[in-house]
Amino acid sequence: MTNKTTNIQNSRFYVQLFFAALTIWIGIEFFFFAGWLESGGVAEFSSRPPGAEAFLPISSLMSLLLFFKTGEIHPVHPAGLFVFVAILSVSFIFGKSFCSWICPIGFISEMIGDFGEKVQKKLFKRKLVLPKLLDYPLRSLKYLILLFFAYSIFTMSAMALQSFLDAPYNVMSDVKMYEFFAKVSQFSLIVIASLFLLSIIIRNFWCRYLCPYGALLGIFSLLSFNKIKRNTDTCTDCKACTMVCPSNIKVHKYKTVVSDECVSCIQCIDACPVENTLDLKTIVGKKKFDKKYIGFTILIVYFIILGIGVATNNWENNISKEKYLELYPNRNSFDHLSNNENKK
Ligand code: SF4
Ligand code: SF4
Repeated sequence: MTNKTTNIQNSRFYVQLFFAALTIWIGIEFFFFAGWLESGGVAEFSSRPPGAEAFLPISSLMSLLLFFKTGEIHPVHPAGLFVFVAILSVSFIFGKSFCSWICPIGFISEMIGDFGEKVQKKLFKRKLVLPKLLDYPLRSLKYLILLFFAYSIFTMSAMALQSFLDAPYNVMSDVKMYEFFAKVSQFSLIVIASLFLLSIIIRNFWCRYLCPYGALLGIFSLLSFNKIKRNTDTCTDCKACTMVCPSNIKVHKYKTVVSDECVSCIQCIDACPVENTLDLKTIVGKKKFDKKYIGFTILIVYFIILGIGVATNNWENNISKEKYLELYPNRNSFDHLSNNENKK
């Protein structure tokens, strides 16, 4: 029986586009806030978009840990904590779907990868894939980076976490993050350009080998209760699923795809020509999850959790305008090491 179900890649593209537009909007709002700071408070005040805290995953992880230890939500970057929990929750439902549905870096990476693949097919008549001997050790890099952060964070006491989160370095971390991109240094530009070129040659170079956030979600995704399952009775072994997989997973060889590299993009399911052969199913009960509701469910879960943050007054931070103006001129003298003095 041929597969007549609708391809959902268009709806995935629109969800990605929506989050990319949201990121640009946050960036523009932050641009005006940074302009106000730079003017020393002389220019008209423009409020800081709390959504910018989505780019502070380390601070958010520390906030989450502090919450588990004390039951309190740290007030400096509360929105970051809710975004972080929303991303973990989505990963728990659909695996590492954040990377292929929400993350703007993943979106850009995917477009560069598509372009790279077209060039490679023209030049070499096939897409380039690193040999396993190189791919496996490189893939472990992101886990080593994650291990470094996890070790540093998970060994901190509640008091050490609290003092790190209270410290000026953490308060100004979103401003410093903004300036990293807005006033990009020559060195950073070289690094970004190198990653861009590498992503043309090797699809998702940053995501696959270096992103510690992806590593964390990859581990989390193994616990996800929805998995891609192949019906071995109806599978014709055509390998269409494997050929489209951006993570180079040999989908046609598995009964259940259990991989930290699967980003739940559903391209394999869309490519499968035989109906009811490749589906997203719950681990327990093996109930099929209709792929056309994935994007909708991701948006609902994500925004319900952010809504809880807003409704409980844990969205805007508690830093006054005066405090920002006081800290801004010295922002480059704060570093995380000064916070670590407080580590027990
Ligand atoms: S296995 Fe399927 S859902 Fe997972 S990354 Fe590959 S194509 Fe996407
Ligand atoms: S696309 Fe994959 S799962 Fe579907 S029939 Fe071909 S090999 Fe089997």
